[in-house]
Amino acid sequence: MDDLERQRELRRVRDEVLSSPNCPICLHRMEPAEVNSDVGRRCPESGAVA
Ligand SMILES: [Zn+2]
Repeated sequence: MDDLERQRELRRVRDEVLSSPNCPICLHRMEPAEVNSDVGRRCPESGAVA
């Protein structure tokens, strides 16, 4: 893998991380989940929803 490819990959991973907010309580990565019949995010660790 050359440097350009590596940078592109790093940027892709970073974008994925940014699109998944961390839990405000335990900072665990929140996962997409159904919240009050809507699509939201839920922390699998503490159960917090956003
Ligand atoms: Zn949490």
